[in-house]
Amino acid sequence: MKRREFLSAVGTTAAGLALAGTQTAAWAQETASPKHPFVQEPLPYKPDALAPLFSELQVETHYGKHHAAYATYIDALSQFTPAMEITVMLRGSKDLEALVINAREKARELGDPLFNNAAQLWNHNFFWQCLSPTGGGKPEGELMRAIERDFGGFDQFSEQFCTASTRQFASGWGWLVKDARDGKLSILTTSNAETPLGTGKIPLLTADVWEHTYYVDYLNRRADYLAAFMDKINWEFVASQFVKTA
Ligand code: MN
Repeated sequence: MKRREFLSAVGTTAAGLALAGTQTAAWAQETASPKHPFVQEPLPYKPDALAPLFSELQVETHYGKHHAAYATYIDALSQFTPAMEITVMLRGSKDLEALVINAREKARELGDPLFNNAAQLWNHNFFWQCLSPTGGGKPEGELMRAIERDFGGFDQFSEQFCTASTRQFASGWGWLVKDARDGKLSILTTSNAETPLGTGKIPLLTADVWEHTYYVDYLNRRADYLAAFMDKINWEFVASQFVKTA
């Protein structure tokens, strides 16, 4: 396949999804390797394990179709002609995080699909880790003290996180982030594939608020989804991101 044919084949969201549609939902994903450096990380639990937050069908559709489509697109791109500049950039990236940042800064002329798919792959890899079948409750230690310091208390944080995420217009993400300079926590939302990566804000927690996240189980009731989301947050994972400094 020539470069132009490839870009034509995967250059639109619809075509990218069609490409991914040939891939069955794989719960045991391959681990990253030199030949396949950008992968969909394994779901850290069974697809029915997050009930009552999500049904098995909701997770199978989200992880097995939507998330998988972003991974298929980026993996296909990384397999293409080594000479093309986009592949040079892919090979020059150490990991998916670097690819997202490189794509935002350098690849606009190649179109948004590269950034959109790379960022969505990273955002979703991160999202599933933010949840746990045994999650919920409240964080402990330094993270809890930082939440109390910057939001006035856990309940205030929870309300602000859910409100901001509910109000995010159309598709996007709600985030708890830590400022890389002063360590201050804040809540922000991003549209579509945008991500705090590479913006000086360290992601600690995210809620996917694309409709594909909750429509099977909640229809249009995004606020109900977010209320249930709070009861499955993996605070140990959030705490592991909180200690990062960049
Ligand atoms: Mn999603």
